[in-house]
Amino acid sequence: MTDTLDIKITKTQHSRLAETDFSNLPFGKVFSDHMFVADYADGEWKNFEILPYGPILMSPAISALHYGQSFFEGIKAYKHADGTVSIFRPDKNAIRFNKSAERLCMPTLPEEVFVQSIAALVDIDREWIPGKANHALYIRPFMFATDPFLGVTPSATYKFIVIIGPTGPYFSKALRVKIETHFTRAAEGGMGFAKAAGNYGSAMLPARKAAQEGFDQLIWTDAKEHKYVEEMGAANAMFLLDGKLITAEAKDTILDGVTRDTVIALAKDWGIPVEERKVSVAELIEGAKNGKLTDAFGAGTAATIAPVGSISVDGEEYPLSDPATRAFSQKVLSTLDAIKYGRAEDTHGWNYI
Ligand code: PMP
Repeated sequence: MTDTLDIKITKTQHSRLAETDFSNLPFGKVFSDHMFVADYADGEWKNFEILPYGPILMSPAISALHYGQSFFEGIKAYKHADGTVSIFRPDKNAIRFNKSAERLCMPTLPEEVFVQSIAALVDIDREWIPGKANHALYIRPFMFATDPFLGVTPSATYKFIVIIGPTGPYFSKALRVKIETHFTRAAEGGMGFAKAAGNYGSAMLPARKAAQEGFDQLIWTDAKEHKYVEEMGAANAMFLLDGKLITAEAKDTILDGVTRDTVIALAKDWGIPVEERKVSVAELIEGAKNGKLTDAFGAGTAATIAPVGSISVDGEEYPLSDPATRAFSQKVLSTLDAIKYGRAEDTHGWNYI
């Protein structure tokens, strides 16, 4: 597996596995015993290393902290009943990783290095993958600029790190969602399609305001007119309207989600028409009123398929059907689970074993 990648491995002397409570796994709080680290300097990636998870020493002048040359990915690994471990579509994340890198003037990473470094780390910490339903190992690869230099210019040095940890379900109920018509996540020509750290920092104030108003999530709209829906928090927004799967086209303001792509492929397998196009707030409200909006959900690696319980716009709330009765998203969830946990044939070749 790691034929081409020469990784120096230092194993921990004190595994934290036995003291970890696998019955309580809030998202993003529990990390495994090891991490993968590589350095970029002199125009090349080097020093591939797996070592005990822990703090790293950095200069306070690193440009990632000051100017935001920093981005990440999110992937999951699953344990099958027979002990097989699979990683879901890491090749897609490798491609998106490099799109983010290019947008932020950062070095790309060969797809095999990205996938092999993750696979090697997951292999060493495979005991950390929960075996329970709806549980997985969350994989967080990220890259950031490390030049200790305050000039506003691309760094010449970077670190690529992968950390992983066991996780359970992200959302546990249907979401009350607000259509955001003031703040903007991404504008044309900006970096919405990149998984840039800054995109998430700028989303925190709008998300907090929505939470203070009693909403679980917000749906972003286009920067110009706030008339077309874009994404839902950190997931792609997808709808079944009049029997068709509709979602915003993956252009420069939209993160091209792996889950989104997967849901589209399944819909096509099942003969459901798919439209990737501008989705207006008006048509969704109309569909909520006349019953033609039969499904609405956020699609993402962490969120999986997160059902929207109601949509609110300008203070008016429109309830949607009970998620338990939604044929499409229920079928997507069960089909995806069966593939990810190795209970169904992986006809698309999505599982990296
Ligand atoms: N949009 C945004 C803004 C996200 O952060 C995410 C999570 N990565 C997604 C969509 C869903 O992408 P994926 O299915 O690849 O996780």
